[in-house]
Amino acid sequence: MQQLFTPWRYSYITANPQDSDCFFCAAGRQPDHPEGLVVHKARHHLVMLNLHPYSNGHLMVAPLDHLASPQESGPEAQAELWPLVLKTQRILDAAYQPHGFNLGMNLGKPAGAGVPGHFHFHLVPRWNGDTNFMTVLAEVRLVPEDLRHSRERLRALFAREED
Ligand SMILES: [Zn+2]
Repeated sequence: MQQLFTPWRYSYITANPQDSDCFFCAAGRQPDHPEGLVVHKARHHLVMLNLHPYSNGHLMVAPLDHLASPQESGPEAQAELWPLVLKTQRILDAAYQPHGFNLGMNLGKPAGAGVPGHFHFHLVPRWNGDTNFMTVLAEVRLVPEDLRHSRERLRALFAREED
């Protein structure tokens, strides 16, 4: 897989051997790290950008605890997840005005989970005529917007909702 855009340094995560196997857990411990991808931390979940996004604004909602399935979440976390997903979708709508969304989870390796030990809900904004097919055809991902810029923009929108 050729990456056209790989500005993100993940040395701060791999520096701690305990964290090297799960970047969701590492991100949860340092949500405000300047080189991180977290845009919002709720009580039981974090919202973070995907390092290898399928489109601008590709976000993931993941629990702070290392859990393989939402079935393992406690009642409070279960009650938080869906409203947080909808809030994140609303913020993406405001930030990017997409024409559609792919929303969902891949649970377990056979289902295509990239990190099978730590579940995460994907929100992928989609546009009419967008170029996601490039990923399949050319094994090249097109990432036209800088991730750091996306992060600051989305963090500001989440912070505004907290006020
Ligand atoms: Zn984890």
